[in-house]
Amino acid sequence: MSASPPLPLPPHTLPRSRHPQNDQNAPWIPTPQLLSEYPFLRHIRSCNSIKHLKQIHAQSIASGAIHDNFVASRILSFAALSPNGSLPYARHLFDQIPKPDAFIANTLIRGYTSGPCPIDALLFYIHILESSLRLDAHAIPLLLKACSEIPSLPLGRAIHSHVFKFGWGSHIPLLNYLVYMYSSCGSIDSAELIFSRMTEFDDASWNIMVGGYLKCGLFEAARRLFDETLERDVVSWSVMINGYVQSSFFKEALELFRKMLVEKVEPNESVLVNVLSACAHLGAMEQGKWIEGYVTKKNVGVTVRLGTALVDMYSKCGCVERALEVFNEMKEKNVLAWSAMIGGLAINGHGEDALRLFSQMEMHGVRANNVTFVGVLNACSHSRLVDEGSIYFDSMTKVYGLKPNIQHYCCMVDLYGRAGLLDRAQEVIKSMPMEPNSAVWGALANACRIHGNAQLGERVGKQLLELEPDHSGRYVLLSNIYAAEGKWSDVAVLRREMKERGVSKTPGCSFIDLKGTIHEFIAGDNSHPQSQEIYAKLEDISKELKLAGHTPNTSAVLLDMDEEEKQTALYHHSEKLAIAFGLINSDPGATIRITKNLRVCEDCHAATKMISRIYKHEIVVRDRIRFHHFKDGSCSCMDFW
Ligand code: ZN
Ligand code: ZN
Repeated sequence: MSASPPLPLPPHTLPRSRHPQNDQNAPWIPTPQLLSEYPFLRHIRSCNSIKHLKQIHAQSIASGAIHDNFVASRILSFAALSPNGSLPYARHLFDQIPKPDAFIANTLIRGYTSGPCPIDALLFYIHILESSLRLDAHAIPLLLKACSEIPSLPLGRAIHSHVFKFGWGSHIPLLNYLVYMYSSCGSIDSAELIFSRMTEFDDASWNIMVGGYLKCGLFEAARRLFDETLERDVVSWSVMINGYVQSSFFKEALELFRKMLVEKVEPNESVLVNVLSACAHLGAMEQGKWIEGYVTKKNVGVTVRLGTALVDMYSKCGCVERALEVFNEMKEKNVLAWSAMIGGLAINGHGEDALRLFSQMEMHGVRANNVTFVGVLNACSHSRLVDEGSIYFDSMTKVYGLKPNIQHYCCMVDLYGRAGLLDRAQEVIKSMPMEPNSAVWGALANACRIHGNAQLGERVGKQLLELEPDHSGRYVLLSNIYAAEGKWSDVAVLRREMKERGVSKTPGCSFIDLKGTIHEFIAGDNSHPQSQEIYAKLEDISKELKLAGHTPNTSAVLLDMDEEEKQTALYHHSEKLAIAFGLINSDPGATIRITKNLRVCEDCHAATKMISRIYKHEIVVRDRIRFHHFKDGSCSCMDFW
């Protein structure tokens, strides 16, 4: 997902300065009088490189046109704001203008604010304060935005004091920007104070305060204010929905989206993309499908962003066929779209197809980026293409000039680890230029589990526990390693430690999307209205499985209870509840799709394989790490996960 802030900036509604070329985005049409004087000015509109701009600049110096501030501002505007421009060149131009005005200075501030170093905007502002030039109120929103981007509360406070010093404290848009700046800098109290003292508001004011709460993690306050907002437009809804999604409140996001449609507000692209991302996380394919239908019906047109979100959603719901169809139908594809499809094929176990698509992407002249390579390396890892993986990893630096990040190293540890090359996996960890994080150690620990290397597993497990002493999964992992070795006294010590630290075990939780409604099951839970039927079905399944020769594998149960109790606990794992529910309510032969928050245990894996054969349903389970497509008694992961 893009890293853009969820909050739209308020539109410019400050009193316009008297500068005739006020609108930065409108193409500049030189007046006939200017054109007859300086014919080269007609080239400014078609200028597309800094080289071309330098020629125009030279001509404007030779002809004396540069002394006209209109002309100077247009040349500087290209250098400062165009993607092909150059901020140092813009600054060089500015320093050469004999009498720059506030408009020209603001253009440069705008360039700095949206450039790679927003702090330069503030340094330039200080430079201007020391000169004779007086800026107008238009500079302030830009400077506050720069403070928000950095983010720097002390600098933001300094600009705030200038708002009052220069008597601009009653402009609503400026107050909006102050609320935006304070919340972006984490000072929600100051933001609230300004908001509460505002006597007048514009359309943006409420949305900015709601967005401010969301940014500071105050979801209840955000929702309260959102519910109180009388005139909610599509921006209000998108602030709230996108805020939920970006903070992983996916169910809440979908509920709010439904409410939005009930209130007959048409969603925009950003809402649709975010809601699709929520569906992807929840594995809510029915709802995702509905959104695709909505896009088609409304004739919104599948943009690259929407298409990519659909590809991602279908892939993460385990429906790679539909993801491919959407991908092939997309008229325009950028690197993000290709990467989404490559990654989607990879996590669904179609490693070779993912690599084929990668070469197609190169043939289309699209250059791979870091995201693409996560997909490519994942593809190699899940399909056990060890040599290919090493070659691709090397090519990142040697051919593509990319610097591998921790995710890529993690893929390599996983690649070697799965293949049983534990020494090479450890070498990768030693050679990493950064500190290995828990994902890297986790990949190695998983490899130890798969290949039964208890000694190394124990060491890595302890390392992980040290790194994340409050993460229940780390205790469970180490407990399982001890349990597999029969070291029950160590299991007991660990359990005591866990209790003393107040860490509670993350309950296993599975979602199933049935005809557009998400049903959630927690291990051992009986809160579902169909609970009785579900447990009856589980009995049924258990009998069928026994007849088919399945013996429950209790090594995954960490509690030291007797065998029979362990078996019952196993049968109440959340995915088994979800499967039973799915079997009761699905049409014959329909695919059952389940999303789980933890890794599937060995017993559930073996049982699900058999269930897919006995009950003749394809069952797709997405666990924390990968997909399992269970069909006719086998799984797409080839029992290797
Ligand atoms: Zn299980
Ligand atoms: Zn599997």
